[in-house]
This record gives sequence, C-alpha cells and structure tokens, in this order.
Amino acid sequence: MSEWKPVVGLEIHAELMTESKMFSACPVVDSVEAEPNTAVDAVSLGLPGTLPVINQRAMEFGLMVGLALNCTIPPVNQFARKSYFYPDLPKGYQISQYDRPLAVNGWVDIDVTPETGDPYTKRIRIRRAHLEEDTGKLTHVGSESLVDYNRAGVPLLEIVTEPDINSAEEAEAFGRKLRAILQYLGVNNGDMSKGVLRMEPNISVLHRTDTAFRTRTEVKNLNSIRNVFRAIKAETERQIKLYLGGGTVKQATLGWDEGKQKLVIQRYKETADEYRYFPEPDLPIVEMSREWVEQVRLSLPELPDVKRERFETAFGLSHYDATVLCMDRAVAQYFEDALAAGAAPKSAANWMLGSLFSLMNRDGVERDAVGTARVSAAALAELVKLVDGGQINKGTGATVLTEMWETGAGAAAIVAEKGLAQVSDSGALAAVVAQVLDENAAMVTDYLGGKDKLFGALMGMCMKALKGKGNPQIVTDLLKQQIDARRSG
Ligand code: ADP
Ligand code: MG
Repeated sequence: MSEWKPVVGLEIHAELMTESKMFSACPVVDSVEAEPNTAVDAVSLGLPGTLPVINQRAMEFGLMVGLALNCTIPPVNQFARKSYFYPDLPKGYQISQYDRPLAVNGWVDIDVTPETGDPYTKRIRIRRAHLEEDTGKLTHVGSESLVDYNRAGVPLLEIVTEPDINSAEEAEAFGRKLRAILQYLGVNNGDMSKGVLRMEPNISVLHRTDTAFRTRTEVKNLNSIRNVFRAIKAETERQIKLYLGGGTVKQATLGWDEGKQKLVIQRYKETADEYRYFPEPDLPIVEMSREWVEQVRLSLPELPDVKRERFETAFGLSHYDATVLCMDRAVAQYFEDALAAGAAPKSAANWMLGSLFSLMNRDGVERDAVGTARVSAAALAELVKLVDGGQINKGTGATVLTEMWETGAGAAAIVAEKGLAQVSDSGALAAVVAQVLDENAAMVTDYLGGKDKLFGALMGMCMKALKGKGNPQIVTDLLKQQIDARRSG
C-alpha cells in the first residue's frame, strides 16, 4: 500500500447567499424547504427573448472568496456558454466562465491530523474560482421525473484546486478549512446536506516510481465532508486493486451510494470539447476595477487563520484549541461572546472543548448550532465564573452544566436550588476528613505502609462524604495533614 498514494484535486460548488439570482431579480429561496417552482422567472427559465444581467453582489461575493483564497484577480473576466442538454437546464446551456475566470492561482494552508504520525501544515494551491449559475433539480418518482426550477439560476461559485491533496485526511482538512472561510465571509452557510455546498474529488493514485499522473475519476453526490473522506479511501483502494490485478482505470464519474456506503459508476466522462464552450454573447466582458478589488480586500472580515493566531497570542490558547474554536464561525463567535460576558479565556475554552462539546455530541447538536443551543454564551460565562471564583468546584461545575443543558436554567440558580455551593470552610471539612479516616483506619495503615495509590481512594471517600462539594485543594491539604498526624501518632 505504501508504494501508492492518492492524488486528489477538489472541485467545489458553493451557492452564494445573494437575495436574487445570478442573472435576474428573481428571488433565491431555500431549494429544499420551498414549494417547487415558486421562485422562477422568465430569465431563470431561459425563455426566448430574455436577457441576463450580472448580479453585482454575486460578483462581489465571488471576489471576496477569491481574495480570501489568496488568488490573483485578473483585470477582466468573461462569461461563456457551456452547452449540454438536461431537463434541469432549461436553456440547454449553462452560463459559466471558461478561459477567463474571476480568480486564479491562490492557496489555502491546512492543518492535517493524519491517522498515524504527527500533525502537519500543508499548502494546497487553488487553480481558479469562477462564477456560474446553478441548475434546477430533478426528483425521480417511480417511472416519472419531476423538475423544480427554484434553484435554476442561483449564483454558484466553482472553486478548483490543483491536485495537491494526497490523502483522505488532507481532503477532509481542506474541506473544513474552505467551508470555514466561506462561512466567515458570510457568502455560504456550508450546509452540504442541502447541497448548498458541494465537494467533488477527482481521484487518481500515484505509484512510487511514476513520473506522470495517472487517469482520474470524479465522485459526485457527496453530502458531507465525512463522505468525501470515505469516497477517497474507497476509490483509492479500488484503483490500486485494479492496477495490481493488471487492469487500468477508466476516466469516469462516480456517485456515492449513502445506503450501501460504496461507489457506483454513473457515466464515463465527457471532455471540454463536448461542451462547445463559447463566449456568452448576451453579457459584456467584466472589467474589474482595481479600486473595487482593493476596497473589497480591505473590507474582508477576520478569517480563520488570523483569528486563530489572535486566540493563541492574545489569550494563550494552544494551537490545537485555537484551531478547533476557529473551525466554525459560530463556535468562535460563541467563545468571544463568553469572554465579553466575563469568562476567562482559557477556562471558557476548556469548558467549551470539554463538557459543552461532549453534551453537543451526545445529543447530535452540530457545532454550527452552538449559538442557538440551550446554554447561551452568557450562561456558560456565568458557570465559568462560579468555578473560577471558587463558589463551586470543577466536578460540581460539570454536573451543573449538564443540568443547564437539559433544563435551560442558569448556573447560579441551579447551585442555589440544589445547595451545591463549594464548602471551603476548613473547620467543617476537617471534621469530615477526620471521620473518613477514623472509619477507614485499615486503609490509612496500608497507605502509611507504602500503598500510595490509596491516597486517591481516601480522597474520593472524603469528596463523596461531602457530596462532591468540598474544595478539592483544601480537602487534599487536610487529608495530607491528618494522615501525617496519624503517622507520628
Ligand atoms: P477539467 O478541465 O477536465 O475539469 P482539470 O485538469 O481542470 O480537468 O482538473 C479538474 C480537477 O481534477 C482539478 O481539481 C485537478 O486538480 C484535478 N486533477 C487533474 N488531474 C488529476 C489527476 N491525475 N488525479 C487527480 N486529480 C486530478
Ligand atoms: Mg471541471
């Protein structure tokens, strides 16, 4: 296996969150939720005699992405007709960009955590990003097919990488990073399950001794980054097996069958010639004013890498913690909101990455949804302050957070109602410790005889007797003192 490695280039289609379609004032609606064919007009249906007009906001969103991906923005870009016949494409051609795309030659740095070995950073080159329009949608019901044109004409940005990705893990890291960038820019919500964002890997394998790339296949219909990962693993294995068996790989388009968790061949691929690309005669060539490009560059929001740097340097978070917090805009926002509500940065990060995320995982709440979950950032801050201020200990904090998560009640209210406040009064604690030691004299003797592990057990018994509310530091100190006293006594 190690003689071979995957070679992957990704093609990403991102619908742009504009109010109207790419070439007309027709509104854009949620194409999964909306009644079919309620957001269509003469232009998006391609009726004879209609003329397209470029949506400036879509051009601006595309430009933002191009700049965020470190691309060069050529002085002009141009639309082209890509001809093919399909019932969801009413004009018989798609308006796209071909030899003069909006953005070229960019890059994205990714953080990869491989299955074995150390984490590393890698630069993936972006070949191009261009604007086009989305197609409608077909639904097959028995022997009939239904078509919904709500999505026809929705602005779409196609982003194409160089074949720089060499593992499923790298593809996953790239997918997450790109999705984060799109979300930070506010141009796409990253929802792959609804097809708003689609990622199609082109996959080949390279033998250690190869001097040129081999034939690739392309996988469509992947509705999650996890499935991009799975498809690359499966397709790499299939291709290696074919070569080892003396066969060859045929250029093809494959689909991912979610139910069977396997790849199925859809069609053998067409080439660019078959699309009969030619310049779109109904639209002008677009000249990108340098001032506009620079103005948009200056107005870009803080992007994931810069935010992560700031979280590391300003708050002393580890590279890993900062990376996880910045991977979703909603998570980073939640963290910053918790700080604004008075939580200490490191504590807020620990509570989020630990207890809060595990409650979210337990109940299947997506990271994106953290801001709308039961425990608000301000509510988390209240809990963090109670723990950091010593009013409750960490163990109690975890219990309180679970209660907050399940009931929506506030931290202080739960602590008051259940009498969970931490006991730091040495007199009261000393009495409990003494009683535990009296009742477990044999364990104390064994501990003093060298069974060091028993200290933890005695500590656990003290905390249990205190219903978990004892100040752990004070209890530890008292326990040490009193055991010592018994040693000499
Ligand atoms: P086309 O113009 O036919 O779409 P491209 O050469 O532009 O094909 O490549 C499309 C995508 O496939 C790009 O993401 C590119 O990086 C990737 N790619 C190209 N060649 C290979 C290969 N041999 N193996 C894997 N991916 C490839
Ligand atoms: Mg292509």
